[in-house]
Formats: sequence, structure tokens, C-alpha cells
Amino acid sequence: MSLELTDVNLTYPDGDGVVRALDEVSVRVEPGEMAAVVGPSGSGKSSLLAVAATLIRPDSGRVVVGGTDTLGMRPRELAQLRLNRIGIVFQQPNLIGALTAAEQLVVTEHMRSRPLHEARRTALETLASVGLEGKAHRRPHQLSGGERQRVNIARALAARPDALLVDEPTAALDQERGGRVMDLLSEATRTFGVATLLVTHDTEFLGSAKQVLEMRDGRLGAREPA
Ligand code: ADP
Ligand code: MG
Repeated sequence: MSLELTDVNLTYPDGDGVVRALDEVSVRVEPGEMAAVVGPSGSGKSSLLAVAATLIRPDSGRVVVGGTDTLGMRPRELAQLRLNRIGIVFQQPNLIGALTAAEQLVVTEHMRSRPLHEARRTALETLASVGLEGKAHRRPHQLSGGERQRVNIARALAARPDALLVDEPTAALDQERGGRVMDLLSEATRTFGVATLLVTHDTEFLGSAKQVLEMRDGRLGAREPA
């Protein structure tokens, strides 16, 4: 199911005026496809993801996730939508230090009211699909930075969401590990048939993206040749 933002506008209050963070932004990502948004710091990339994640309601415009128009949904319904249909990967893997890789996933499955044995099975399957077979029992400090980011991605995919939203996934990684995380994201996008919207200021590994768009001062458009 696709992810669709149409004519989205977002401002933040700023002193007496406003910051225009998103200016008539439209993007559509099909299931199994990855769209990458590049742009400098402060151009509105994280705001775009926050709106797509329904964490921030835009001033105007439409946000449709997996065929569901989120405009007019109540906060409680939005929370359910986020829990079940949207996977979010932040820049820093916010893993819980005391839990194993498998348990990081089981905790969120528990929030989805999945029975424990099912949650465990899903956790192991999903970890295997991101190349962490045999490492499910390790705690974050026993994993490399790239592996922690894989756990983070697996956790976002555990619910088999319609949309996967990824903010600067390679920012904390060196080039080689960053490249492998990008390969993994494009592979997972196809395997799980998820509509992936990824933002990055890193223009290095965009080969696997179906669309590459550029954000400038809150406006999203075709990428200018370098
Ligand atoms: P990026 O992720 O590309 O760095 P952001 O979406 O974080 O860009 O920010 C876009 C613009 O909105 C910037 O000018 C930023 O300072 C401003 N901004 C972001 N979040 C807030 C906020 N909560 N309140 C006020 N201004 C914000
Ligand atoms: Mg950002």
C-alpha cells in the first residue's frame, strides 16, 4: 500500500512570525519502492518524516498511509495507525541497553497485543531477514554500530508496516557500513513490499532509490544535477 503526501504545508511559530518548514510538498511512494530525499540541514527533511509519520499534523494538505486518509483521524486512531502500519527508523538506534536484539522487537510486539510466542517468532524471522541470524540473543553493547542499526530497522519492520520512514540512517556509520545499511534498506523495501521514504544529507548511496528528490527551504522537487 502506498504512502502519499499531497500539497502539504507546515509552519512552526518563531517569535512574532513563522518558519515555513514544508511548502506545498507532494510525494508518492509505491509499495516495494524506496524514495530518497536529500537536502541540506534545516531544509525540512525531518519535518517531512514527522508529517508522514502522523506525529505532526500539517497546516494543510493530505497524508494517506496505506490507503487511509489520516486527516480528521483522532489522536487515538493515529496512535494505532503508527503502531501497526508505520515503521520509523531514527538516526540513532534507540535500543534498550538491558534487552537482547530479539527482546527489542518483542517489546513493541507486546504493545500490539501479539501473543508472546508469535512475537518471539516474528522477532527471530525479522532479525534473520536483516542478516542478524544467530545474534538475536545479543545486547546492544555486544553488537557493532551497523548491527544496532539493523536491529533498529528490524524493529520498524516487525509489524509488516505499509510505510517505512527513515531519517539519516547512515549518519552515525562509516562509509562501508553506511553503504551496507542502504543496501539492506532497499532489499527490505522489496522483500516486505513496504513504501520507504528515506531522508539523508548523504548523497553517497542513492543508487538503490527509485526516486531521488531534493528538499530546499521546505520545497520538494527534482534533484538538481550536482
Ligand atoms: P532537516 O531535517 O532537513 O535538518 P528540519 O525539518 O529539522 O530540517 O527543520 C526545518 C526547519 O524548521 C528549520 O528551519 C528548523 O529550524 C525548523 N524547525 C524544526 N523543528 C522545529 C520546531 N519544533 N519548532 C520551530 N522550528 C522548527
Ligand atoms: Mg533532520
